[in-house]
Amino acid sequence: MEIININSARWQTQLKNSIVTTSQLEQYLGNKLKGNINSTANLFNINIDAENSVLQSSLEKVTEKYPMRITPYYLSLIKNIGDPIWKQAVPDINELSNSSPEHFDLINSNDPLLKSFYPVNTYDPLNEDSQSPVPSIIHRYPDRVIFLVSNQCAMYCRYCMRKRKVGLDGCSKSKLSSGDHFESKLSLGDRDYSEPKSNGLSGIDQGIDEGVNYIRNNKMIRDVILSGGDPLLLSTEKLDRILFAIREIDHVETIRIHTRVLCTLPYRITENLASILEKYHPLYINTHFNHPDEITDDAASACLTLIRAGIPLGCQTVLLKGVNDNPEIMVKLMRKLIKIRVKPYYLHHPDLIAGTYHFRPSLETGINIMKAMRGNLTGIAIPHYMIDLPGGYGKVPLLPNYMKHIDGSRAVVENYQGKACQYWF
Ligand code: SF4
Repeated sequence: MEIININSARWQTQLKNSIVTTSQLEQYLGNKLKGNINSTANLFNINIDAENSVLQSSLEKVTEKYPMRITPYYLSLIKNIGDPIWKQAVPDINELSNSSPEHFDLINSNDPLLKSFYPVNTYDPLNEDSQSPVPSIIHRYPDRVIFLVSNQCAMYCRYCMRKRKVGLDGCSKSKLSSGDHFESKLSLGDRDYSEPKSNGLSGIDQGIDEGVNYIRNNKMIRDVILSGGDPLLLSTEKLDRILFAIREIDHVETIRIHTRVLCTLPYRITENLASILEKYHPLYINTHFNHPDEITDDAASACLTLIRAGIPLGCQTVLLKGVNDNPEIMVKLMRKLIKIRVKPYYLHHPDLIAGTYHFRPSLETGINIMKAMRGNLTGIAIPHYMIDLPGGYGKVPLLPNYMKHIDGSRAVVENYQGKACQYWF
């Protein structure tokens, strides 16, 4: 695979030409929708009025609450209306119908034990906001922090677990209010830096300054994860300054970046960016592919640019109903990932985020997919299947139950074909 020569203007042009309004989406889809309005109505689960204008107004209601941004690149991957690529990118009226906290109250109202574990604010079921000592930091586990450095993304994934934060700035359609249970503590503009000062900090905006100071003052922190939003939506210069400031802190051993641009805007990965990132090793990148159709030559080329800079790549896939919730698709995705040298790291069961309920498959679906992967994939292609406990109690791996019986020095275990076998120990 040769690296495609990409200049930095290309990713900025993609962002500039992104679809952010329903009228732009309608224009883009053009003739695909015309003459096909009934199937479109079914797709969006809405009623069409005489003027065939409901599609637009319904989607506008969604984008007023949850912003839309789709790069032309990602839109070009859509083969059919309603396909797995479409579902991840295009707003769905279901985002509104299951956004009310009452929807979740039905689950826990009569169970005091469950209730004590279940957060009231369903826009933040993982309790991230209460685990934020400063607005840009989430500190859940003692030795690591999530550092929220951007709330912009190349695309606003419809199932995002930070729906309450992403895209709040820079999207004209976003009209969120505290009455909607949204609480954006971040105010991360994209202003330019001044020249680095001796401590590598001055000139970074306040939220980021606070985050770096928090990390510096907490010596148990060994691992810093830059997240958001998408850290690679920041300018390269700004990212350089943030990484410089973190790397100056002696007790920080590893830096990780969580980004989806390899999938949604691969042109962001330029040689210049890679040359900046490789100054800050050990630095890891976890990216996010959910469907085999997302692994294109452009995406593979972006991955290779980072790999040549010595950056190990992992993938955090989200299990999504209607997108990848079957073994065949998931096996194909994992095979394609290791071919482009991206290690499948986690398969996340989607979190209990308001507005995303229509994406949630059953746990049984996830377990069956894990079973299928065990029989059909090399071990390096199999991710850990994870749930993240509501309330901020942390991630837990789930596995199929292979141990059927254990007794003295003998166990009965099930192999990948479902056969019961004896094992002595
Ligand atoms: S790129 Fe990540 S943070 Fe941004 S909307 Fe998608 S899932 Fe959320």
